[in-house]
Amino acid sequence: MSLLIIENYIAGQGQPPCRRQYLDNVNPATGEPYARIPRSDTDDVEAAVQAAERAFPTWSQSTPEQRFRLLNRIADLIERDLEAYALAETTDTGKPLSVARSVDIPRAVANFRFFATAALQFASEAHPMTNLAINYTLRQPVGIAGCISPWNLPLYLFTWKIAPALAAGNCVVGKPSELTPVTAWMLARTCQEAGLPPGVLNIVHGLGPEAGQAIVAHPKIKAISFTGGTHTGRHIAAAAAPVFKKLSLELGGKNPHIVFADCRLEEALQTAVRAGFSNNGQICLCGSRLYIERPLYARFRDALVQRVQALKVGNPMQSDTDLGALVSQAHLDKVLSYIELAQAEGGRVLCGGQRVQVAAPCEHGYFVAPTLIEGLGLHCRTNQEEIFGPVLTIQPFDTAEEALALANGVDYGLAASIWTQDLSCAHRMAEQLHSGIVWINCWMLRDLRTPFGGIKQSGIGREGGWEAMRFFTEPKNVCVKYAEG
Ligand code: NDP
Repeated sequence: MSLLIIENYIAGQGQPPCRRQYLDNVNPATGEPYARIPRSDTDDVEAAVQAAERAFPTWSQSTPEQRFRLLNRIADLIERDLEAYALAETTDTGKPLSVARSVDIPRAVANFRFFATAALQFASEAHPMTNLAINYTLRQPVGIAGCISPWNLPLYLFTWKIAPALAAGNCVVGKPSELTPVTAWMLARTCQEAGLPPGVLNIVHGLGPEAGQAIVAHPKIKAISFTGGTHTGRHIAAAAAPVFKKLSLELGGKNPHIVFADCRLEEALQTAVRAGFSNNGQICLCGSRLYIERPLYARFRDALVQRVQALKVGNPMQSDTDLGALVSQAHLDKVLSYIELAQAEGGRVLCGGQRVQVAAPCEHGYFVAPTLIEGLGLHCRTNQEEIFGPVLTIQPFDTAEEALALANGVDYGLAASIWTQDLSCAHRMAEQLHSGIVWINCWMLRDLRTPFGGIKQSGIGREGGWEAMRFFTEPKNVCVKYAEG
């Protein structure tokens, strides 16, 4: 089978990498390479920045209505091609096609639609000084924005950055993960068809430490919006600090899911399974530490084991598959090593715990059984470090104070869920949780207007709604003094 050749997208055109070097792109469900992607470096990023610089004066002066129409047109075209996009996302990530169809690609469409509207509605503040002067705030695009995204929700997270950056009048140099480049490449073609002016969006493919690093280091890129691991985020923060770049860092999570005995049991059970194993646990928001109030513990655990055992791991193309492949051999090895570590730390595997062999054509794919582990305390590595796989630990608690201490006892602070019908308890806990997002009696219920992001090692800054529009603009105060008398 001939390999698909991916190109960079610079100045409105598909471009090979300057050095003509390529990387293999592997289908994680089969373990077979199926595409080649540019191994770009500083020269490619330089070309992208130059294209963005040429496009910026006109794009930044375009009217909100023009940006609204273009972003909506991009959304319409992605929606038209939803099936092809979903197939590409599944082939790249190993996630079930049903999920790519119903979650990933519709969300990319929603991102463009949402921020198209934001372009129309964005407004700024005025601060009158009575009888003396008026201050008004101009919010102007930062210039060229760098958008770097991970492999777990490829088009979903890439467009979550690009759409607000463009809506606010910036030009963009973006880099998707080199593990999942295909939908970003398709997006380039969609933008061409939509009539996005050349250079407004540029997409450079390649390795993080090469192409990604070149974006972070480039002096003409004024803001970096990054989603990825905490380790990479730390590196980017250090590189950006001396040149005072604007930074938005959405990093890892180790999210607690706290279930009180008075919860609505069926909903809490269903959602604990979804929160633990959606996208194979490869979502930064996944609830990977499940705390259950002791009177409910044994009943909840036993029901959970049954439901987790019933999840079907298999070929992502089949409609009854719940969990597809993990994204790469390296990630498979990492997840399996954490399951071994959990056992060495004294954890008991209640179900799963091993690699799964799937029938042809997936016999070499990277599949792991969804895994439940009990018997571990807060301070072991399994409960402190982000595994980012289908591994959920469970532990009983006796009081709300203990649940809070467990929930807050990690370096991460992205999301938390609380399950109880006692709303005073839930609100009190929400106030005290060290977390950027708290869900009460739900998980991953998203409104794109709300601030999205974490505290502690889960990052700095917020995405979503006005937060994103503010990140991608510079506020300038203009003070006008009235004439005397
Ligand atoms: P990485 O941090 O490895 O990579 C993220 C992106 O950064 C990729 O495009 C990567 O490129 C690039 N990159 C890597 N090194 C550098 C560098 N030195 N300079 C610039 N860019 C670089 O994360 P993963 O792709 O492994 O994604 C998983 C992580 O993302 C998890 O920790 C997860 O929690 C986090 N995440 C956070 C979310 C949030 O909103 N808080 C949402 C989703 C995921 P390449 O792939 O080519 O190496």
